[in-house]
Formats: sequence, C-alpha cells, structure tokens
Amino acid sequence: MKFYSTNNKNLKVDLREAVIRGLAPDNGLFMPEQIPMLPANFFLELPQMSFKQIGLEVVKNLLGKDVEESVLEKMIDHTLQFEAPVVKVEDDVFALELFHGPTLAFKDFGARFMSQLLSYFAQQQDQEVVILVATSGDTGSAVANGFLGVKGTKVIVLYPSGKVSEIQEKQFTTLEQNITAVEVKGTFDDCQRLVKQAFLDEELRRKLFLTSANSINIARLIPQSFYYFSAYAQVMELGKPVVFSVPSGNFGNLTGGLLAQRMGLPIEAFIAATNINDVVPQYLHSKIFKARASAQTISNAMDVGDPSNFVRLLDLFGNDFDAISRTLIGYSFNDDQTRAAMRHVKASADYVLDPHGAVGYLGLQRYKDERATDVTGIFLETAHPAKFKEVVEDTLKEVVAIPDTLQKFIQRPKRSVAMKADFKEFKSYLSGSL
Ligand SMILES: *Cc1c(COP(=O)(O)O)cnc(C)c1O
Repeated sequence: MKFYSTNNKNLKVDLREAVIRGLAPDNGLFMPEQIPMLPANFFLELPQMSFKQIGLEVVKNLLGKDVEESVLEKMIDHTLQFEAPVVKVEDDVFALELFHGPTLAFKDFGARFMSQLLSYFAQQQDQEVVILVATSGDTGSAVANGFLGVKGTKVIVLYPSGKVSEIQEKQFTTLEQNITAVEVKGTFDDCQRLVKQAFLDEELRRKLFLTSANSINIARLIPQSFYYFSAYAQVMELGKPVVFSVPSGNFGNLTGGLLAQRMGLPIEAFIAATNINDVVPQYLHSKIFKARASAQTISNAMDVGDPSNFVRLLDLFGNDFDAISRTLIGYSFNDDQTRAAMRHVKASADYVLDPHGAVGYLGLQRYKDERATDVTGIFLETAHPAKFKEVVEDTLKEVVAIPDTLQKFIQRPKRSVAMKADFKEFKSYLSGSL
C-alpha cells in the first residue's frame, strides 16, 4: 500500500515512510491509496468475532501487503488489550466506551498501535527510535503508556513544569523503563519549540533516529476504525440503521469511522458533535470553512479552532460537499447544555458522562429530534469521567471514584529530568544520555 499526501496525490510513500515522517514533506496528511472493501464473509461473521479478530481482519485489509500476518497479529494483540463495550443508556441510545485503556481515553488505541509499527521499523534497521513528544497533558500520557516497554523505542516527554495537573503528570513521570519525562521551566510552547528545533538539527538527526508521535500520524488513524466495527456488531441484532455521534476536536476519531464505512460498514450517518469550537458544523451548514482561534470549554480536549484532520475528511469525499453533507451532520453545544446533559443522563439512566461524551450524547439527541428516524444511535464516550473529575463533580454534585488504573499512577514516585527552556541544554542531554 502506498500513501499519498492530501496536498498532492502524486507524492507517494510506503508505509514505513508515512509512519516515520508523520507529516508529508509538502505538509499534507498521508492517506492510503486504496481503501479496499472487506469481503461479504467478514460482515456475516462479524457478530461472532472477538475484538482482536475484528482488528486483525481490518488491519490485514489495509496493511496485509506491507507487514506479515504473524507480525500484524502480534501488533493487534498488544493494541487491543482492553475492550470497547457498547452500553445501553436509553432506548435506542448507546455509549461506546473507549476509556478502558491505560490512560482512560480513546487515544490509547492510536498510541498503542503506532508504537507497534514504529518498533517494527526500528528493529528492521537495527537502530533505536527516539520519540519526542511535547505535551500539555493528555497526549504525553497516551503516547508514553502506548510505548511503555516496547522494544527498540525510547520516549522523551517534554512538559511545562507546574502547568499540568498532578494526575496527568503522574501518568508519564512514574513509568521508567524506556520512558523519560523532561520537566521544562517554561510553557507548552517552549516544549514544542525544543522538539521542533531537535528535528531541524542536522547533527542530532545524523546521530539519532528521531520521530514524533503527533495525532496526524496515519498509524494512529487506522486503529480508530476498529471499534466502529465491533460496536456495530454489538447492536446489529436490533435490526435498525446505525448512526454514530462522535465528539470531535481534530476529527481523527470521526475519520476513523469514515474509514470503516469506506471498508463496507453500513453506517447510516455520522454526527460531528462539537463544543462551541464549531468550525466543522459551520462548514456543514454554510459550505464555508473558516478556521479561527479556539475558545476554552469544559470539554477541553475538543478545543480546536483549525481541525487537523479536516483535510482528510474532504479528501475521503473527493472534496464533494454534497457527498459530505449526505453522510455527516454537524451540531455544536455550549457548556451549559453539556452540563445539563450530564445531569439529565445521571438522573434518568444513572450513567455518568464525561463532558466530551456528553457532547456526543447531545448530538445524537438533536439528530433524533430533527429527523425523527427510527435508528440505533451510538455516541462515543471518549474518556472516563474521572479524567475530568473537577468538572464532573462540580456538575453532578457528587464524588467521582478514581479507577484503580489511575490510582496506581498516583501512588508511584515521580521522576523527571529538570531543564531550562534552552535548546543547547536539551541537545546536550539528547546527545549524551541516549
Ligand atoms: C482527543 C479527544 C477528543 C477529540 O478527538 P479528535 O480525534 O481530535 O476529534 C475527544 N474527547 C477526548 C476525551 C479526547 O481526548
């Protein structure tokens, strides 16, 4: 399989280069040249298949010519160590819980699968891959935990000292093994600058096999299609058309669903549910896409003003607005509506939503109100409510228990390398200690 750049279909690279580079040289995003349909047999057998079996068939369909099947099987086995259950919340309304991984958010799927692919390519060329990530909190924990103990990889997480929450910090400063946290006396922007400078430094690049693990990597997108299949399988017997509502920021999660649809999964529609950062719902209403600065909300993982995967979304539909608007419906909601939904679902169904899942739930409700169609609706619950403990407790006026997975981190001692926001110091650290 070749991967082309969304800026230029003639610029093609192989899987290895797409994964290692992340971004195409012309700043486009990589897309698979073909997205083959899965065979009819796959859909017949879907209800009986395990999550891992589903993941393997899907990944073979995309990457079966690039990586041997036995290797893909190991990658899937490592990635899908936890389930993605569909839980009934109301009649015809289900939550797809994507928070059962080590950092309690759906980004675990992408981070874990990418770690497997990078480790595979590192072993082929007999050199350790060094993954640099700048984080303001959540990305660092998903990437660090995704790469923990993965052969041939070393992760350096840079984070601004005193500017991430204690729980977030503990999730990447207590891991040890192949994970190092660098605590920078500065801001998130300083951390990002240090990472960028490292990539531009010829001497470092000659010495080290450096890569990043940013969210636009195609290796993070592919596993985000798996759970649409398994969720569909869990509601198939209801016999109604299936609609997915996806709480969205950079639109990687939703793009994973579109990939699944392109491989033949009969999804009736997707709801692009956002907070007030609504450039995509605006586009779907007006045909005009206008990026803008993001505004802060209680569903802060979706505070994105210029969604990076929007170009992939356009590309999948050949830039045809009519085709896009037949499949995608956009709605946005403010914080008051989000909190009201959290209270409502707690009271009516005794189910605790996190603020992101609540936006997904609202999207589904509005779709049902406006279209009055008889569908099975699934909204994606993208994080465990304990990850947003303050907001959830303040909204519901009750204590949210911290699951054992998080508790474990809190008890372990923090270890970090303190550093000024100074590239010379960072460079000498990278050159010396690796
Ligand atoms: C990242 C994130 C999102 C947004 O996902 P995108 O793929 O960027 O649209 C939603 N919810 C949570 C909890 C997240 O961490």
